[in-house]
Amino acid sequence: MTSRRLVDFHCHLDLYPDHEALVRECDCLEVFTLAVTTTPRAWRRNQQLASKTRYVRTALGLHPQLVATHATEIALWEEFLPNARYVGEVGLDAGPRFYRSLDRQKQVFERILRQCAAAGGKILTIHSVRAATPVLDMLEQHLPQDRGAAVLHWFTGTKAEAKRAIELGCYFSINIEMLKNERHAGLVAALPPERLLTETDGPFVKGEMGQMRPRDVAQTLASLARVLGLEEDDLATRIQGNLKQLVSA
Ligand code: MN
Repeated sequence: MTSRRLVDFHCHLDLYPDHEALVRECDCLEVFTLAVTTTPRAWRRNQQLASKTRYVRTALGLHPQLVATHATEIALWEEFLPNARYVGEVGLDAGPRFYRSLDRQKQVFERILRQCAAAGGKILTIHSVRAATPVLDMLEQHLPQDRGAAVLHWFTGTKAEAKRAIELGCYFSINIEMLKNERHAGLVAALPPERLLTETDGPFVKGEMGQMRPRDVAQTLASLARVLGLEEDDLATRIQGNLKQLVSA
């Protein structure tokens, strides 16, 4: 084990068969892990396990891909919000499988952003598949920069959309899959280094050894260091600094 501390700012810990062991592993290895949830029903258990750790935090989510079937859970989401510092996975998905629920997704996301703005101090991890522009429009309209922080997870928008996201104060959490695609890697290389975080998005993203666990964010770090032309240790230090900046704002 190295003294290098890793950051996995978006992982679905509760979708692994060994959820509880994985929480302990993240804490033992000192991998700062943001355990995102896809419905607010999953939040309490995640929160309970994470509350015993130094390095695992839980985000209160309502995934855009589940809005078609779980939109009514927004009430439960609102009930838990006062106890949640982190929010996600939330956002919009305009891909072919979820396009039909896009209007409903926008209603739910607007409600989430407004509630976060009202509460203040929340940090959001946001999904924006084929929906970078509407996500940015909604952030601009409903979450003033001094009322919350937005991290765009697996951002695949255009350069113009990235520029706008930067102006809106967004951070970007980068996973290894994004770096395998030439266009996306090029986009990542052009982002301001002080806005970068790393993520696995496990178990959905596969690494060198199959399904990624938070500790495997080391692979993401190595790959991102290559793309940016930085030393891994320097990048690790920078990412830790970015995280500190984000959570202390
Ligand atoms: Mn995810």
